[in-house]
Amino acid sequence: MTAKISRFLANDEPDTPCLVVDLDVIEGNYRALRRYLPVAQVYYAVKANPAAPVIDLLAGLGSCFDTASRAEIESVLEAGAGAERISFGNTIKKQRDIAWAYERGVRLFAFDSEAELEKLAVAAPGSKVFCRLLMNCEGADWPLSRKFGCDAQMAKDLLIQARDLGLDPYGISFHVGSQQTRLDQWEVAVGKTAMLFSALNEAGIELKMVNLGGGLPARYRDDVESVDRYATAIMDAMTRHFGNDLPQMIVEPGRSLVGDAGVIEAEVVLISRKSYDEDARWVYLDIGKFGGLAETMDESIKYRLETGRDGPTGPVILAGPTCDSADILYEKFQYQMPLSLKVGDKVRILAAGAYTTSYSAVNFNGFAPLKAYFV
Ligand SMILES: *Cc1c(COP(=O)(O)O)cnc(C)c1O
Repeated sequence: MTAKISRFLANDEPDTPCLVVDLDVIEGNYRALRRYLPVAQVYYAVKANPAAPVIDLLAGLGSCFDTASRAEIESVLEAGAGAERISFGNTIKKQRDIAWAYERGVRLFAFDSEAELEKLAVAAPGSKVFCRLLMNCEGADWPLSRKFGCDAQMAKDLLIQARDLGLDPYGISFHVGSQQTRLDQWEVAVGKTAMLFSALNEAGIELKMVNLGGGLPARYRDDVESVDRYATAIMDAMTRHFGNDLPQMIVEPGRSLVGDAGVIEAEVVLISRKSYDEDARWVYLDIGKFGGLAETMDESIKYRLETGRDGPTGPVILAGPTCDSADILYEKFQYQMPLSLKVGDKVRILAAGAYTTSYSAVNFNGFAPLKAYFV
């Protein structure tokens, strides 16, 4: 936790649960990525943390933006970034939203199917389009597999069709899966991409861009490789498969820019046991799956937790405050917490800046959406 965040929590004593984000950390992460991967243009994946202070900061630093909806595009335009810095990267768009974006000047769109291509041809004529490749997302703690992308053969046919429909077949995208813990996953993806570049070249189409997606990790319970190692792995894969003739490169980090920048402060509402002979305590917090910790689904993302207490610890099952039995955070993976933990104690959830506020429910059980402060 940074000094700025501790100071804010100590001085302002905000009501819990709340997220506190240190914007300097986001700026540092952005600059580090630019430093280690200077040839790639950064398109921040807005969904990771769509708050205005984050968008404003990154717009000011020169970032471009990967967006999924009208509202995300509007927030980027409001931050003063022009339409030329926006990619409409969702492969599932309403035709009227495509038309709306096109009218505002957006000219870069993702697709992974024939039906989407047909919408783009009508509603965004002449635009640059890139085809998303299907990935298996091995090694990712939060896989984005199955739902997105098409296989290479189909991608080839669709990009030819894009040209025939009057669009600009611009490139290939992929996402190796979010919180990708393996450095070698870009190698596979870039290899497939380079093969498609050649295949399309033979069909008279010169692709210009590789969109390397997101996937760079934040640091949760387990240590992860540093950003420079990821950048090296990506550049090695690119030069191995493209030689010196590198195409335009795009990266779409979400989690790796904002995850480490935020801390959630929560409070213990209840500590109980289910029977006299059970060892594990149930610890109920004032935040759960519906209050912003949706990525604990299947215990996929394992946050680092801190309490103000020390001394001997014992196993706990962690759960949220709502009246839904799905609202259990960690049960299979047994967290340990101090035996001295008391109702009313604060619990800090570290590296919680990504995919928390944007995942919190509007008013389930009357609990307000996760509040966020930016310092
Ligand atoms: C969510 C998303 C990202 C960001 O992924 P991270 O793993 O958070 O970096 C990037 N690109 C697309 C298309 C996405 O949907």
